[in-house]
Amino acid sequence: MVVSTDTISLQDQLYGKDLPDVRTVLRESGQTEELRVAVMKGRANYLCLRRWFEHMDDPIEDVADASLRAKILLWLPHTQTGDKAELRMNREEEAHWRKFASERGRCSPKRCPYARVNQCFLYRARHLAANAHIVIANHSLVLSNSTQGFVLPPFEHLIIDEAHHLEGEATSQFSWTVNGSTIEEPVRALISPDGVLQGGYFSTTSSFLARSSDSNAVKNTPLAREKAALGSQQSGIVSSLAGALMARLGEFLPPPRGMRQSFSDQLRVTEAMRARGPWHELVLTWEQLDAALLQILDSGRWFLKTLDALSLPDDDTNPESQQRDELTMELQSSLEDLTTVRLQLVKAFGQDDGTRVFWIERSPVQAVISINGAPLDVSDLLRQEVFNDAKTTVLTSATLMIDGSFDYIADRLGLRDATQLPLGSPFDHERSTLVFVPDDMPDPNHQNFQATVNATLLDLLAASKGRALVLFTSHSALQATHRAIKRPLEQKNIAVLGQRIDGSFRQIVEQLRNNPGTVVLGTSSYWEGVDVVGPALSLLVIVKLPFPVPSDPVFEARCELSNDPFNELSVPQAVLRFKQGFGRLIRSSTDRGVCVVLDRRIISRRYGDSFLHSLPATTFQVGSTYDLPLATARWLGTDAARGETLSMSWGEQW
Ligand code: SF4
Repeated sequence: MVVSTDTISLQDQLYGKDLPDVRTVLRESGQTEELRVAVMKGRANYLCLRRWFEHMDDPIEDVADASLRAKILLWLPHTQTGDKAELRMNREEEAHWRKFASERGRCSPKRCPYARVNQCFLYRARHLAANAHIVIANHSLVLSNSTQGFVLPPFEHLIIDEAHHLEGEATSQFSWTVNGSTIEEPVRALISPDGVLQGGYFSTTSSFLARSSDSNAVKNTPLAREKAALGSQQSGIVSSLAGALMARLGEFLPPPRGMRQSFSDQLRVTEAMRARGPWHELVLTWEQLDAALLQILDSGRWFLKTLDALSLPDDDTNPESQQRDELTMELQSSLEDLTTVRLQLVKAFGQDDGTRVFWIERSPVQAVISINGAPLDVSDLLRQEVFNDAKTTVLTSATLMIDGSFDYIADRLGLRDATQLPLGSPFDHERSTLVFVPDDMPDPNHQNFQATVNATLLDLLAASKGRALVLFTSHSALQATHRAIKRPLEQKNIAVLGQRIDGSFRQIVEQLRNNPGTVVLGTSSYWEGVDVVGPALSLLVIVKLPFPVPSDPVFEARCELSNDPFNELSVPQAVLRFKQGFGRLIRSSTDRGVCVVLDRRIISRRYGDSFLHSLPATTFQVGSTYDLPLATARWLGTDAARGETLSMSWGEQW
């Protein structure tokens, strides 16, 4: 059985926190056989011993590279798993990990000396997984299982935890991005830069053929040199055409605002855009580039065929055979990379079959231009890549239902015929949770909304004595509130921490957990990543209903397929996000808290019912912003007027 969850840290949580409970239940029910469980991560999480020993003495690129190599040297004699999580790398070290990690195109276990003596970490992990009753995996791994060469052992049953993420994860798994470097990198691996006949697998293979003991190899050497020299010219052509293609794509975007813009610009490629002259000119540039790429791929296949035809012994102690095998593997891998990029571009600039959405993007800060693609509908892909592999698939999450129905998620995942089982919350929210909606807030689109939010929060957070998580839908609104409330609240001994302002996610959540009287302002990941049990998180404020960004190209294209995109897509997605946010408040049966929704549309618009009816039964109150601090203080047992905590304990209040 495979149990898949959303992230690697949730995999570790399932293994460390939930699995012991499963073992206890099995033991108590008379099960005597020891449960064998393996954690399986994506290939790139494991150190590749072959690559490590090949590259450990390469020139050091920078301090992070040096510190990573030192860490690996100290860790390697002791690790049983080769899993990078044990190294606790920082972001800079992570960037260098790639060159030592296992990579599909550069791995041939039959020819690898480490795999043959059972030292390869990846294959040891696979072996453990093949013998396990339960394999704990993640969505990304499950979704890429077939394309990555079946990393997971065959399984009969699949449990998908956090299934509300499956559509998004599948969309990003089957999406791609191509920029100038993505095109040039595999070409550079194959061919040395223009005019230099050293480096690159074409030149290395030519030299290898010239030195080979095989007479066929020597015969092919002049042609190999010719192809390497021709490739060198084509590499220069690819480089300038790739640059021209990206520059032309960039012309479709509005000019960058400022030197180092902190957000990305995105523009969907529409039928109307494809019909106009500038797009036709772009396609001409692409066709020239494609011709050069095809010639390189053609030469690459010739080199592969020539290596394959050598009559060298299949013996890994023979240095010439070994070198042939390594060259074959590297050539194959770079050709595969280049073919993948080319096919993505063929889809973007060729006939649009209506199954994908394409968009042009300028990245924040570095302003790199790229062309991107994503599937419009993932339900067929999920069926092919995931659901068809298992006899039974169970999808589970606390946020799958909207207004008492599974219809939305079943539609999105193509599971209309699935058996459904609603399970209630384990907590008594009516006793533990007050949901308060102020009815005198301005509309969220009104110019006074932000100022009113700030003023309301000042009184509210003083009444709750901090202990709060305030969830925003935009970082600019978060920053504005942070500026307005930080100092006044700090004068009342309430610390205010803003996402991306006052530390990393982990540091901020740790402070909320451990320092009484802390307020955290968060967007994005804070809507579902915060898990703080007890009074340290007693107040949750939802500033605006979390509707998806309408300008997101994938969302925009999916909306065009719907007759009623607002009710069929925007509202359901916002409801699921809202439920995830709401779920931050009550994390145990002894928690007690207040959830304040500052977006009055939840009571003034018809769609508001979908949000409210999707919550478990709570104590619910509509009132004024004036009443809010006192109602909060009373529910939490703090006295707003005197600014003191009532002496009742948490248990006694119930
Ligand atoms: S089998 Fe593959 S991943 Fe394992 S050490 Fe060899 S090349 Fe690396």
